[in-house]
Amino acid sequence: MDLGFLLKALIPSWNSVAVLMIFFAYLAVAGSILPGKLVPGVTLQDGSRLHYCCNGLLALLLLVGLLGVGSKVNFVSPTVISDGGLELLSATFIFSFLAMMVLYAAGCRSQSKRSSLKPHITGNPIHDWWYGMQLNPQFMGIDLKFFFVRAGMMGWLLINLSILAKSVQDGTLSQSMILYQLFSVLYILDYFVHEEYMTSTWDIIAERLGFMLVFGDLVWIPFTFSIQGWWLLNNKVEMTTAAAIANCFVFLIGYLVFRGANKQKHIFKKNPKALIWGKPPKVIGGKLLASGYWGIARHSNYLGDLLVALSFSLPCGISSPIPYFYPIYLFILLVWRERRDEVRCAEKYKDVWAEYCRLVPWRIFPYLY
Ligand code: NDP
Repeated sequence: MDLGFLLKALIPSWNSVAVLMIFFAYLAVAGSILPGKLVPGVTLQDGSRLHYCCNGLLALLLLVGLLGVGSKVNFVSPTVISDGGLELLSATFIFSFLAMMVLYAAGCRSQSKRSSLKPHITGNPIHDWWYGMQLNPQFMGIDLKFFFVRAGMMGWLLINLSILAKSVQDGTLSQSMILYQLFSVLYILDYFVHEEYMTSTWDIIAERLGFMLVFGDLVWIPFTFSIQGWWLLNNKVEMTTAAAIANCFVFLIGYLVFRGANKQKHIFKKNPKALIWGKPPKVIGGKLLASGYWGIARHSNYLGDLLVALSFSLPCGISSPIPYFYPIYLFILLVWRERRDEVRCAEKYKDVWAEYCRLVPWRIFPYLY
């Protein structure tokens, strides 16, 4: 690809700006009016709790339905994203940057004493801009952190669907493309089916909304997690039946471990006496679960997520490292995250955590790490 073409493709057109704005407007309206389970967030330092309306699945299905009808009647082109991916990428990047400017200014001016909005100012503008100042900033009653992560996950699916439409249009649809599409759609749908679990994750409860999260949600998730799809549009990969079956197993095992571990922890937090794998749970110090996946490794959920990530890339074969960007990035991120979480848990649970580490020595990979 020549540099002139690349630079031209990176300049956002009005079309890409319109696509982005319509998408955000739809999400804002759908998120506010569609019915959904109202889930209380964790209790914040000042004793308050935010509430999240988990209607993401309905919003997503409705959007895909509307786009399907729109493309059937030639109102929208199904390849609108795949035809202008780079423009959309730069439009989203510029939007993230501008949104962060507004968030930074709002954080500097905030006088709020509530835990969700109280500004955390270090005096280092770069640090405050990158890590954010407020825990749960809102715009017109919309919780922006929850909104952005939802936009990122839906954006990833929309990019994938547009890539799929492009490969059908070009006559290049392959078994590899079908497998990548299938695994990622299952993962994204699963995310929205279990959207309420998101309300207790580290990002929502502990991380302030800074450029790191805004960029991560809006740009990084949709545009880098879909690299395999973009790559398969331009590269033909022949898979043997055995390789395809093995690939399905990697996805299935990864998914079962990922979802199973996250579910066990979620259930345990709600009811510490709930059965795990049909037996009463082993609980340390009345606080930490040491049964099921949490008795095999201290972060089995990360292991499951890594296997799923690998299954997204395996359909691309091994001729290039580019489609392996996502699993490699996730590996680095989760090992780093696990280290940070261990420090947090060691401080919070003290002797109970030490006892847990003694009982469950493996961090992520049993017998390896
Ligand atoms: P975890 O779901 O692993 O949560 C860690 C927290 O769980 C700890 O801080 C502690 O919090 C609690 N905890 C830890 N061990 C135990 C135990 N034995 N019993 C009970 N509670 C325990 O972390 P994340 O929020 O980081 O990840 C959630 C999921 O999101 C993971 O599956 C991860 O793979 C995925 N993820 C995916 C990313 C991607 O880019 N694809 C990025 C980041 C995460 P407490 O103080 O509440 O007890």
